[in-house]
Amino acid sequence: MLVLNSGSSSVKYRLMDMADETRLASGTVERIGEPGGVADHASALRAVADELAGQDLGLDSPRLAAVGHRVVHGGTRFTEPTLVTDEVLDGIRALVPLAPLHNPANITGIEVARDLRPDLPQVAVFDTAFHATLPEAAARYAIDAGTAERYGIRRYGFHGTSHAYVSRAAAALLGREPGEVNAVVLHLGNGASASAVRGGVCVDTTMGMTPLEGLVMGTRSGDLDPGAVFHLARVAGLDTDAIDTLLNKKSGLLGLCGDNDMREIGRRMAEGDADARLAFDVYVHRLRRYVGAFTAVLGRVDVIAFTAGVGENSAAVRAAAMRDLENLGVVLDPVRNAVRAGGPRLVSADGSPVAVAVVPTDEELAIARDTYALAQG
Ligand code: ADP
Repeated sequence: MLVLNSGSSSVKYRLMDMADETRLASGTVERIGEPGGVADHASALRAVADELAGQDLGLDSPRLAAVGHRVVHGGTRFTEPTLVTDEVLDGIRALVPLAPLHNPANITGIEVARDLRPDLPQVAVFDTAFHATLPEAAARYAIDAGTAERYGIRRYGFHGTSHAYVSRAAAALLGREPGEVNAVVLHLGNGASASAVRGGVCVDTTMGMTPLEGLVMGTRSGDLDPGAVFHLARVAGLDTDAIDTLLNKKSGLLGLCGDNDMREIGRRMAEGDADARLAFDVYVHRLRRYVGAFTAVLGRVDVIAFTAGVGENSAAVRAAAMRDLENLGVVLDPVRNAVRAGGPRLVSADGSPVAVAVVPTDEELAIARDTYALAQG
């Protein structure tokens, strides 16, 4: 299986042998359309093909059985991994207004891969799919129902492939079936989202109609009073695109302190930098708020699982997020939390009623599995 994650300025790829789920090759082509990079997505995929051919793993290999693509927005139509046909591609195109920053690049990736190997099944795996089970009470915004229906304004959620993979892996770490386990998954990367998973079924998540809602992220604001948007338009005189850029690209940790990398923020905090401290505190406060919210949504939590760049690596964020939650049944073990390790692991104290886990996410593996399952029929 070849897995392609085509973003706006990069293409990540991974070639997997599904007999034993080993990684044959992987890499990233960056700076697409930027000075010093390749011209466009077609050139990027050709670079991937050349790279693989150099390792005798050419895209013309008869062993290559299917290509799996990450697609960000599936709307209400695509709730499962889907074999790409012309009609499906039209469906993904129709969702561009809901995901203008993401779906176009995903579509280009599919088109170019199809041109290179028209004989292969191409499978779209949607970031929204795992959240299709959100009950209406969690998925609906309290706005005029007709307007919401007409314009698709509801909560779809994102990072679904990761939330699905990590909630399953967390159950496995506890030695239990996913159907028996209630999990709060905290996916903290550059983008960040939390989800509440009851017995393997997602019942709430922090991202909404777009990936802008919810947690504080590297460069995205997360939750914001929509009234602030009107104020920016009326009083600050910003147009729609300027507000979009402000909230998606210049906010979050970056907006608060000028850095969006948690490692750099940690270094600055150690030197007593007040802006970095505030950014960290706002980030952690929002996270704790949602841990509390999702505890109430689930009623019973078996495990809180941290994943992605910050969740897997920042002991400081985990410690601050889990501090003083004994009354919610959460007791972190500071020594286990501080250990740097690679695999899934528990960082809660023995006897903590709620387990706390670090579970490395692997979206490419999850997409390869979904693609394999579908391509096999
Ligand atoms: P993406 O959402 O782009 O896939 P990742 O999941 O790779 O992002 O997360 C990237 C972020 O992880 C970086 O911006 C950085 O803030 C954070 N990160 C990576 N390594 C560490 C670390 N050792 N300590 C703290 N934060 C880290």
